[in-house]
Amino acid sequence: MAPKRLDAWLEDPFLGRLYHAIRVAGPIRSIALDLTDVCNLRCAGCYFFADGMDEKVPTANLDAFVAREAERGTNFVTVVGGEPSLALERLKVLYDAFRLSVATNGLRRIPRDGFEDLPIGVSVWGDEQTDRELRGSGRTDVFARALRNYAGDERAFWYYALTAGAAGHPHEVDGVVQRCIDNGNRVLFNFYGDVEDLGGEFDHRRGFGPAREAIERAIERHPESILMTSRLAEVVSTGRLFAERWGHAACASITPDHPANRNRVRNGRPFDRHFRAYNADLETTRRCCTAIDRDCDSCFDTWQHFSWVMMNPRAHFNSKHDFTAWLTTTWLFYFINRLVDVDEGARLLPEVHRRTRAPELAHTQPPENPPWTPNLTSSWTAPACSAPSR
Ligand code: SF4
Ligand code: SF4
Repeated sequence: MAPKRLDAWLEDPFLGRLYHAIRVAGPIRSIALDLTDVCNLRCAGCYFFADGMDEKVPTANLDAFVAREAERGTNFVTVVGGEPSLALERLKVLYDAFRLSVATNGLRRIPRDGFEDLPIGVSVWGDEQTDRELRGSGRTDVFARALRNYAGDERAFWYYALTAGAAGHPHEVDGVVQRCIDNGNRVLFNFYGDVEDLGGEFDHRRGFGPAREAIERAIERHPESILMTSRLAEVVSTGRLFAERWGHAACASITPDHPANRNRVRNGRPFDRHFRAYNADLETTRRCCTAIDRDCDSCFDTWQHFSWVMMNPRAHFNSKHDFTAWLTTTWLFYFINRLVDVDEGARLLPEVHRRTRAPELAHTQPPENPPWTPNLTSSWTAPACSAPSR
């Protein structure tokens, strides 16, 4: 802790407002769960199904589960899938008990009635053609239908998964972002990890420089609508937080009492002691939100990186610049999840970007001649499911 310096930094009225908003909202005691084992899509390479996560079916009494978690102190639930919109009655039970964030593929609208203040992350992988090929089996216009379902819906934000090969179709990226914003929604980004070694534009080992440039363009054009800062994009895409490298040994989004994490919880690195990732049976847990035993080198999940930053405040107390990075990231998580005043948040968001821009990436333009052309007929593995954590 650096209380004197912290006090001095918080004299900055803007930082003071962000900090105050978080303090008023209070600490998050979070879990993640699969609401259902079923989905109305079979996206190419979806690892929810590939990893057998659908083998656990919802057998537990949901009311009893809610009572247990409330007793444990849980106040926030990230709901993933399968597809949560197919289990609205169960979703409603959770919504009435906790603050939620839900991830959906957008095909079926989660109604406003009964879910008035629900943050909804709607996944998108590309424009209509890309989404139809990769997610809609060549027939279903997933993106177009999701746009219609969430037009003008302030609960919804888009969760756009970018491949390392985003440079192969920069105008598609810019166009998708514009469509989402024109639809009246904000945009968060995810990064695709090539868990099936498809290579080419899907290969995360190429690095995400072009994807980050696309994000930077989006921030520059739409600072009021982009929910990821330059700094967070850098952390997720490089797997670096100061001297630390991303991976199981550092990850904060683990289930602490799961046997796979026995050594992890002893290594001294911060983790969320409350967190658990529940399978759809709501009785068994898994190692982490994202997978059962996935290779962490392919994990570029933004939701988990939010928690990596948020769980490491002390690493950010060396300068006002670093503290600003921690505070803006934490505040953004609260803002995305509607835990702070959303109208005030909307006014603060452009200044968050102004203070966290990466100068070397500012003023980027999409390349006229992309370095390679995407092959949309390849099968690939689902980066984001419907989900921030998938
Ligand atoms: S796969 Fe990702 S979320 Fe899971 S332990 Fe590894 S780094 Fe953490
Ligand atoms: S990636 Fe998500 S939307 Fe697609 S099949 Fe898997 S669970 Fe369903």
